[in-house]
Amino acid sequence: MRTTFRRIGRALAALTLAATTSLVGVVATSSAAQADGCYTWGRVLTQGATGEDVRQLQIRLAGYPGYGGVLGLDGAFGPATRSALIRFQQAYGLSADGAAGPQTFNQLYALQDNDCTPVNFTYAELNRCNSTWAGGAVSASTARFNALVSMWKLQAMRKALGSVSINISSGFRSYACNSAVGGASNSRHLHGDGVDLVGSPSFCRLAQQARYHGFGNILGPGYPGHNDHTHVGAVGGWSAPSCGI
Ligand SMILES: [Zn+2]
Repeated sequence: MRTTFRRIGRALAALTLAATTSLVGVVATSSAAQADGCYTWGRVLTQGATGEDVRQLQIRLAGYPGYGGVLGLDGAFGPATRSALIRFQQAYGLSADGAAGPQTFNQLYALQDNDCTPVNFTYAELNRCNSTWAGGAVSASTARFNALVSMWKLQAMRKALGSVSINISSGFRSYACNSAVGGASNSRHLHGDGVDLVGSPSFCRLAQQARYHGFGNILGPGYPGHNDHTHVGAVGGWSAPSCGI
């Protein structure tokens, strides 16, 4: 979350941006004035860039791959990353130039908490099973990371739905937690990225919107056992016959 320091930094960054707009893309940003509790980018990123800073950007753009897409988190800024970035910039009314510079980074800083989760979701919401993320189909660190990526996808979906609240009834499950609720033996909840959505918007609205935000797994009304929630996850296909999916 932002601090007073951050707000001052952002004001300075805005002034700096005004002075260097014509140079964006060929010079590094003056990132010294910016700082974030989770992650701070230090250069403008454009197509062709590679590195951990690109990967950190991709994680936060995971919800913007376009219909049916899934954005790779490979640290290589290719055409798909550029398209996702442009969708993000358009969603937030930024200059949609496909270059991640101060405007984009400041928007991302405003959207992330110090633990790197997007502001409207928490690790606790994504894990009502245990506090360790252990006991599932993948390592605890992988499960927690997969949940983080799902949260960024949900943040994008939330924005697209008009900044409505999205209610989560179940996220990560250990095998024990999954058995206790009768989950499928190959459930994405065991991997940390499976999330069950309840409440409003309607289950069909959620399932339909999820198709645009990087969820390779969508199960909703009409699919066995899914008339009382919509399930989203990273991989596994789509089925929600009552919603035309
Ligand atoms: Zn589920």
